Amino acid sequence: MLRQFSLRAKLRLINLVALTALLVIGISAIEARRSSMMEDVRRQLRDQMSIVFSMLDHYRLQAESGALSTAEAQQRALAQLRSIRYQDKEFFSVGSMEPVMLMHPAVPALEGKNFGELRDKNGKAFIREMLDKTRSHGSAYVEYWWPKAGETAPSPKLSFARHYAPWDWLVNTGMYIDNINRQFYRDSIWFVGVLLLVSLLVTVLSNLLGQSVLSALQDILTRMRAVEETGDLSQRFPTERRDEFGELARGVSSLLGSLREAQTELRQHRDSLEEMVQAQTQDLRQAKEEAERANAAKSLFLSNMSHELRTPMHGVLSFAKIGEEKAQLLSTSATPARPDMERLSTYFQRIHSSGARLMNLLNDLLDIAKLESGRMELNLQPLSLNSCIQQALQEFEVQLQTRQLSIALQLPEADCSLLADHFRLGQVVRNLISNAIKFSPDKSEISIRYHCSPPDAAGTANVELVFADQGVGIPAAELESVFDKFVQSSQTRTGAGGTGLGLAISREIVQAHHGEIFARQRPPQGSEFVIRLPVSMPSATQTTQRN
Ligand code: ADP
Repeated sequence: MLRQFSLRAKLRLINLVALTALLVIGISAIEARRSSMMEDVRRQLRDQMSIVFSMLDHYRLQAESGALSTAEAQQRALAQLRSIRYQDKEFFSVGSMEPVMLMHPAVPALEGKNFGELRDKNGKAFIREMLDKTRSHGSAYVEYWWPKAGETAPSPKLSFARHYAPWDWLVNTGMYIDNINRQFYRDSIWFVGVLLLVSLLVTVLSNLLGQSVLSALQDILTRMRAVEETGDLSQRFPTERRDEFGELARGVSSLLGSLREAQTELRQHRDSLEEMVQAQTQDLRQAKEEAERANAAKSLFLSNMSHELRTPMHGVLSFAKIGEEKAQLLSTSATPARPDMERLSTYFQRIHSSGARLMNLLNDLLDIAKLESGRMELNLQPLSLNSCIQQALQEFEVQLQTRQLSIALQLPEADCSLLADHFRLGQVVRNLISNAIKFSPDKSEISIRYHCSPPDAAGTANVELVFADQGVGIPAAELESVFDKFVQSSQTRTGAGGTGLGLAISREIVQAHHGEIFARQRPPQGSEFVIRLPVSMPSATQTTQRN
């Protein structure tokens, strides 16, 4: 429940409780002091009364023993009582229970008179009360107001009355208690003063304490709100205080420190995550582009392939049909005409060339299938590169002449000794010459050169073979992709002719020889294909290993 109140209200509550407790303790103490003083007075009255009763007994016994008459004993007792004083001026009075005053040293005029109806300034019939109580209890204390001897103004007084049964007397004595009341007032005033002083001190101290606590709390709260609103974890807290607030501020500071570290770590993670996601997105994008390229290449390959297959097949079928009809006609003719015979021969040539073209295509497909399954075997033999190139060129003699293409050969006099598979390396050389012819304009020049480099630091000598043409060239971005299967350069992609397998097969063969093949642009016009092969090979016969 206390949690619902503010700190200031709680401090006020503590003040109130403390002051109330002080008030209760103070009042009780004053009350106790007054009671003890009153008890002191009562004891004195009782003691004095006991002495007087002993004296009365003395006279009564004298009367009973016959030494004195009862009246005489009573007279002597009253005379002695009249002269008794204690505490300076306190005295005893004696009356009968009727009540008639028998002896009153202070107001002798009362003697012989009925004093039962005497009242004090407040109208209190104190004699009646005294008689009633004494009759039932034997003695009684009664408080009332009565003037002191020689004074007219009444003062508070405590009287003690006791019944002396043998003579049926009411013996009374009293003491003024105005000094006790005065002491009570003095005590009360002193206590109120102390109470006021203490409450002032407590209020001031609790206000100071509250102020200090609240300002420290307010300070911390303001800074925490600033952290909450701005998210700025570098906010400073007043850690120099040595009390609990200093400790709290130090705790919050270290908490913010930990949060700062966690935030930095989180930011780093987020950044690296972003980089990772970016890298992965990039990879995915590349993979997607590659897949799209592969798909486009596949579509192109299918269209090329169907063209490549259909054209020679169509040629084979058409010329076979025409040849068949011609042959039937000639068989019925007794003397076949020479032009007819020549035409028949041309048809067979066409059938042969179309079949050869088909054969080449099938060979390429079989080669790539073999290479893909890693089952191509190389038969490595010492090879003369000069004669390999010369042999290949001979195969293209007719085409070169028809297209009026010149070949510039730069071959070293001393042949480089190579270990290579004659057929496969010849296949590579033929493919490169064929491409150079295919993509060169008429009457241009194709250059073929090679040289052997001296052994490098690892002891490996290389031969570098270059096929350069002045043809359409290959865009820089496609220099590598033309070696992919079924891929053709954007410069030469016509939709007719070429399967895009020749360079892929060539690269497989060269790599199987531990060499490399690549393309580059030839300024100002054309392209160059470069083959690098190690001069010495590790073993005489080996099988290509593909993953
Ligand atoms: P094909 O010639 O049967 O299409 P290749 O694998 O031999 O297959 O060549 C792939 C592609 O590389 C060719 O289609 C062509 O676009 C390009 N290319 C090859 N050689 C040359 C060259 N000398 N000049 C220009 N482009 C070439």
